[in-house]
Formats: sequence, C-alpha cells, structure tokens
Amino acid sequence: MATIELKVPDIGDFKDVAVIELLVQPGDRVQAEQSLITVESDKASMEIPSSHAGVIRELKVKLGDKVSEGSVIALLEVAEDAAAAAPASPVPAPAATPPVEGTQAPTVPAAGGHGSAAAAPAPAPAAAWRGAVDHECDVVVLGGGPGGYSAAFRAADLGLKVVLVERYGTLGGVCLNVGCIPSKALLHVAAVIDEARHLADIGVTFGAPQIDVERLRAHKQAVIGKLTAGLASMAKMRKVTVLRGVGRLVGPHHLAVEETTGLGKERTGRQQVVAFRRAILAAGSQPVRLPFLPQDERIVDSTGALELARVPQRMLVIGGGIIGLEMATVYSTLGARLEVVEMADGLMPGADRDLVKVWQKVNAHRFDAIRLRTRTVAAEATADGIRVTFEGADGARGEGVYDLVLQAVGRVPNGRSIGAEAAGLPVDERGFIRVDRQMRTAVPHLFAIGDLVGQPMLAHKAVHEGHVAAEVCAGELLGDEKLARAAFDARVIPSVAYTDPEIAWVGLTEEQARAQGIAVHKGLFPWSASGRAIANRRDEGFTKLLFEEASGRIVGGGIVGVHAGDMIGEVALAIEMGADAVDIGRTIHPHPTLGETIGLAAEAAHGSCTDLPPPRR
Ligand SMILES: Cc1cc2nc3c(=O)[nH]c(=O)nc-3n(C[C@H](O)[C@H](O)[C@H](O)COP(=O)(O)OP(=O)(O)OC[C@H]3O[C@@H](n4cnc5c(N)ncnc54)[C@H](O)[C@@H]3O)c2cc1C
Repeated sequence: MATIELKVPDIGDFKDVAVIELLVQPGDRVQAEQSLITVESDKASMEIPSSHAGVIRELKVKLGDKVSEGSVIALLEVAEDAAAAAPASPVPAPAATPPVEGTQAPTVPAAGGHGSAAAAPAPAPAAAWRGAVDHECDVVVLGGGPGGYSAAFRAADLGLKVVLVERYGTLGGVCLNVGCIPSKALLHVAAVIDEARHLADIGVTFGAPQIDVERLRAHKQAVIGKLTAGLASMAKMRKVTVLRGVGRLVGPHHLAVEETTGLGKERTGRQQVVAFRRAILAAGSQPVRLPFLPQDERIVDSTGALELARVPQRMLVIGGGIIGLEMATVYSTLGARLEVVEMADGLMPGADRDLVKVWQKVNAHRFDAIRLRTRTVAAEATADGIRVTFEGADGARGEGVYDLVLQAVGRVPNGRSIGAEAAGLPVDERGFIRVDRQMRTAVPHLFAIGDLVGQPMLAHKAVHEGHVAAEVCAGELLGDEKLARAAFDARVIPSVAYTDPEIAWVGLTEEQARAQGIAVHKGLFPWSASGRAIANRRDEGFTKLLFEEASGRIVGGGIVGVHAGDMIGEVALAIEMGADAVDIGRTIHPHPTLGETIGLAAEAAHGSCTDLPPPRR
C-alpha cells in the first residue's frame, strides 16, 4: 500500500475558489473519478474527482477553505501499482445555466391545484454521477411520509424494484410522527375530558381530571409506534428496500444517501449511492420559523407543542389556522388560558365564515384575547415569560407575556435541500417543485408529490399524488399504457379542522362561489333539528350543501359539528360523481345519525325536507 496526495488538478480560470461541499469522509472507499469535493466560484460550481481508487485516510480541506490548482484535498491509501495512474479531470457541477430545449415534460392541463411543470423555470443540464453505486432500482422514493411510503408501496405492488429513503428512524413523515396522528391522539383525550365536563349539566358528574402528562405523552408515542411499526413491516412484506439517511440528488439518475442514526438526523459519515430509472421526490415540508423570535424552550412550533413538555398557564398561539387552533384546543382543555394572534381578518382562513362563527361561539370561553388583523413584531425572553409585542392593522401596538408561545404560521417545502440542481431540476424561490397532473417535474423521469409540490399541504392529497406518480412510473417502465396515463384528476380535496366542534369543507365555499361569479343554490340543515345531535347534546352545528344553479350539481359543502371530518367524505364523493340534490336526498341515510344531515340538507335544497318547517311559498 502507498499513500498519495489527491490534489486539485488544472481547473482553468478557477483560482482561490471556496469548498462548498465535502463529498467524502476519512475511511470512505472511493473509486477513480468519484467526486471528492464541490468548489464554487462566482461563475459556477465544479466537482473535483479522485484521480485514483482507494481509501481516504485524511481530508486536508474543510468547508469554506479556498483552493487552487495543486491544493491538497486528501490523503488516499492506494495499491502500490496504482499510485502512478493518470489524474482525473474535474466534472462541472450543474449550475444555473440557460434553458435546454426539448428536456421539458409534456404538460397535461392542470386541475386540483396541479400546474404545469413546463411552466416552471427550464431545467439546467446535469452532470452524470461517475462514482460507485451501492443500489440499483427502478424507482427511488425520497421521503417516507404519507406521500413517499404510499408511492413506494404502490410502485412495489405494481412490480417495480423500489428503494425508499428516509432520514428519520421511522417511516410516516410529519403526518404519523409529528402531525396528523399525534395531534389527533391528544385531541381525542381533550374531547373526552370536555364531554365528561358537559355531562355535569345533565346530572352526571365526574371528579376533576387528574392528568399524568407523562403517561399521556407515552400514550401518544404508543399510537405513533404502532402505526410506524406497521409501515416498517409493510415495507418488508413488499420487499421495499428502506435506506436510513439524508438523501440528495447527485446526478439525474443518482441519489446519495448519508446514513443517519439515533432519534434524529445525526450522520454516521457513511454514504451509499442509489442508481435509479425514475425518482419520486416526497421530501415534505417543515414549520416556518419567525426570524425575530428568540431561541427559548418556551417558544415552540407544532412539533414542540406535540411533545407536551409542560402545560402553561398563559399560552399565545401565533397563527389562527387549523394547526394552531387544534393545538390550542388540547392545551386549553389541559388548563392553559389562550390568546391568538392572526394577520387575516378571521380565524381559520379558507373556511366559510358561518362555519367558523359556530366554532368561535362554542370556544369563546377558552380565549382571553383573539387579535385579528394583527402582526407579531417582536418577542423577548424574560424570567416572567415571553414578552410579545403586537401591531394592529391601524398601527396600534399591544403587549402580552406568556409561558408558552406556539408559532403556527405555516410550513415551507423542503425542495431546497435535496440537491435538485444536480439533476437539473428547477425549484422555485419558496422551495416548491412544479409538477403536471401526472406529478411529473420538468425533468421527465423525476416526479414530485405531497407538501413539496404545493397547497393544500394535507396527507390525503400526498397519498393520492403518490399513487399517481407510482402508477405512471410503473406504466412507463413495464409498458402498460393505461397505467402510464394515470393522472391526478380529483375534482376536490377536503379540509378538516379537528377542533371541537370540527369544521369540514370541500369544493367551493360560498365565498369562492361569489368571488368566481358562480350562482349556487344552498341547502342547509341545522343540527338543532337533528335527533342524533340533540340526543348527543351537540346540536350547535349545521350541514350545508351548495348546488350550481346552472347544472343542479353539487359543487361544495361545509359541516360544522362533532365528527364533521368523518362525514365530509360523502360530500366529496357526491361532487366527484356529479350528484344533484335528488341523488343525495334520495340516498337513504341511516337514522338517527349525524350523517343523515347530509341527505337532509340536500332535501332542504330540493324543497322536500319534512324534518324542517315547510318551505316558504
Ligand atoms: C401538527 C400537524 C397536524 C397535521 N394534521 C393533519 C391532518 O389532520 N390531516 C392532514 O391531512 N394533514 C395534516 N397535517 C399535514 C400533513 O402532515 C402533511 O401534509 C403530510 O405529512 C405531507 O406528507 P408528505 O409525504 O408530502 O411529507 P412529510 O410528511 O413531510 O414527509 C416527508 C418525509 O421526507 C423526509 N425527508 C425530507 N428530506 C429528506 C432528505 N433529504 N432525505 C431523507 N428524507 C428526507 C422527512 O424526514 C419526512 O419524513 C398536519 C401537519 C402538522 C404539522
């Protein structure tokens, strides 16, 4: 064995250029031509390859170092006879270069929020990976959230060889680990506590709840554990290879995976490379962090709030959307007094105001203040709490001090951290990747799904998109024309706030119908006329359906009341099927149920409802 120095070769005009990426670690076995580092000048970036195969003994550069021709990058242990081999030449890394004609994906007309991938900035040409490859597959899926695992499982079920890459120790992504599921586990507990309290009004009294926060947390973790373990075993059953690590595209057909360990993303220094024919990018999103908020354990995002580290007395929720108000419900039931600050002129933007009004009336007792049209402009960590300054639309300032501040102001996609540029894949300035209705990006063999491709950021949207992408890949690789034509053609995607009461809506809202100039006819059934809602002592809600005047078909619906989220799927189905008021009203719904109110709302629209006073003539 001999040790040689790997040096920066002749790199033309590049001089004193910064090292922006270390692609190998001491101990790594590298092949000749495998990239060692990426350097960047003000004009372009470039990967510097190894001149020999061998084992990296020592790295002589670190991030930010300036290198020129002749700078030593690393010491490499090589076989004696290999030491004399010729040096490799540098590989230009993909950079922001002009568009290339003919590399854009075909565009299918957009629907359901899906745009045209070709309308995104044109892709740059990408350099191929020339290093070693550890896995070869038909489809690599980056990200094990609901979008990613659904895509991987569907692709495997259709007969493809699939590798699924996830940086955390469990599959399930935000939804199962720090989103939909843990929040609902806690919301269920809150709902039971609230329900038990209400029973006192009708003569059934329980003692005050004794809350063992540690056991509650353990319960939530057990729910997550059951579901994520189920995913791991389903991946095994399908022979999907799951690689744990941070994935990053290193070429149009290669993904490098830096192995991670522990509970988080601690890197082990080991890397594997996957060669793929198609990739489905499902890297999801993360919470927006307001830059002026100090680092303090009393300031959390939704992930921090779900940890349930403490139950505060005074809690501020920044952002009056679904996620903020769901978490607020849990903390309030456990004992916190709430304040909420929202920039828009109402809570839960997106839902019709009549639905939100019902929720607000029932929940008024939880809040000390609801600040609308107000921004949070400063925050300071003090011994007494987090001191927050607000500014109203009129410029008036206010202040409050809180034991816990939840920032729930939205989520940003992870598109900027997946090495998209190495595959010539454009990512917009916010981190979204544009796709067409087949979930195809501007690089035809790359697909993207879920939170990464746009609003609404919802698990059920991600799952459906994942299935479409998997089917298109399978169709193309296996020569099945029908599958290859799969497209996301859902007319509507339902939204649900799992608050108490729940608010659920789908299709057009009344506000949208007005704004779009679509004349609609409304059928509304108040739950004060529902036998089941009255029996449950939860008759504050209502169900409304919107029918297009011109066609008579249902175009939207909203429900506010307990279990609204469990019922909205029927309204979505009716919209997909192009049902009218007679179709829905004459569908026999079981009595007495809350779901019955959907049939009754359709009857109200049609004028045939006998559970309400007679229609005015
Ligand atoms: C508190 C909360 C409650 C929510 N409740 C609901 C709800 O009730 N209903 C609903 O429909 N939606 C809900 N959502 C939204 C839902 O969780 C997301 O829309 C959904 O998880 C998106 O799925 P996805 O597959 O696109 O991405 P994600 O779930 O974000 O998964 C992406 C995965 O990719 C991994 N990843 C990212 N980058 C890399 C990389 N470079 N290498 C390897 N792995 C990587 C991540 O670790 C993650 O596991 C909620 C979200 C939050 C935060």
